[in-house]
Amino acid sequence: MKDFFDFLNILQCEYLSDVSLAEYTTFRAGGNCAVMAFPDTESKIADILKYVLENDIRYYIIGKGSNLLFSDEGFDGVIINTVKLDYIELTDENTVNCACGTPLIKLCRFALENSLSGLEFAYGIPGSVGGAVYMNAGAYGGEIKDVISECRYIDSNGIIRVMRGEDMKMSYRKSIFSSSDDMLILSASFKLIKSEYDSIKEKMNELMARRKEKQPLEYPSAGSTFKRPEGYYAGALIEECGLKGYCHKGAMVSDKHAGFIINKDNASASDIIHLIKYCQQKVYEKKGVMLETEVKIIE
Ligand SMILES: Cc1cc2nc3c(=O)[nH]c(=O)nc-3n(C[C@H](O)[C@H](O)[C@H](O)COP(=O)(O)OP(=O)(O)OC[C@H]3O[C@@H](n4cnc5c(N)ncnc54)[C@H](O)[C@@H]3O)c2cc1C
Repeated sequence: MKDFFDFLNILQCEYLSDVSLAEYTTFRAGGNCAVMAFPDTESKIADILKYVLENDIRYYIIGKGSNLLFSDEGFDGVIINTVKLDYIELTDENTVNCACGTPLIKLCRFALENSLSGLEFAYGIPGSVGGAVYMNAGAYGGEIKDVISECRYIDSNGIIRVMRGEDMKMSYRKSIFSSSDDMLILSASFKLIKSEYDSIKEKMNELMARRKEKQPLEYPSAGSTFKRPEGYYAGALIEECGLKGYCHKGAMVSDKHAGFIINKDNASASDIIHLIKYCQQKVYEKKGVMLETEVKIIE
């Protein structure tokens, strides 16, 4: 890694070595990574990607780490953290463009300040814009798919390209980016609708209140642990199997919302993974439904 550190120094890119991934993921679990780089320009991101690809160094991109669980063994490679790529601008009266590391919540507030409607559903999703596009994040009947107009990204050959929303193959918690995992979203534009400030604010507050009422936000988690299986709700299936409140060491099926596995008390990643597998096994045995994780587990 010495050469890589020299490269980052020449690039004037901030980085940390031997970093606890628990500190960069909302589950607050997982081992260390060898290097975490914090590029603050698109060209630094492009240069880092080129370097790791040419030198065959394992890498992973993270935004806010709110849908990720790294194993206790950690990640023996480079984590590219997008947090420093953070800007928002209006490109025309109802289009907002922002960098991949911009917090989704900040984007929602920006839309509100400009009386633009369409992103109310996303208020409260604790991810970055890049992570939300990758995941086609959604809630309360809305999803990124409905509002994204285009994005700029680096393709698998290191070339910066533009893709239109309709070409992103977005469906429930999926996009073209999540199906290939070799592209990096740099920025995204959202087409919104001029509306009344007060009605947008009311909707945002209402949805935030629903989150606070229903979700165990007081504990570390990665949101819904499982995808919604067609025709069912993961939380209801888990609850019907008697697993609401069930613990494995420090990991627990939330007793507030069974769709959330929480880090109740210093759980390790293996405790959480164990509990995830246990829920999958029990639900399959009793209900015949195989739950698929929404949380991405990196081992
Ligand atoms: C309390 C809580 C509530 C939640 N509620 C919701 C909800 O209502 N709806 C919902 O959909 N999700 C929800 N989530 C899950 C999560 O917030 C979303 O999936 C979010 O979009 C992830 O964004 P992130 O920046 O944290 O991505 P990360 O967790 O950092 O990464 C997720 C994936 O995206 C990839 N990625 C991130 N940035 C980029 C980029 N720039 N280019 C390419 N790939 C990238 C990563 O490699 C990884 O594979 C919730 C999570 C929590 C903790």
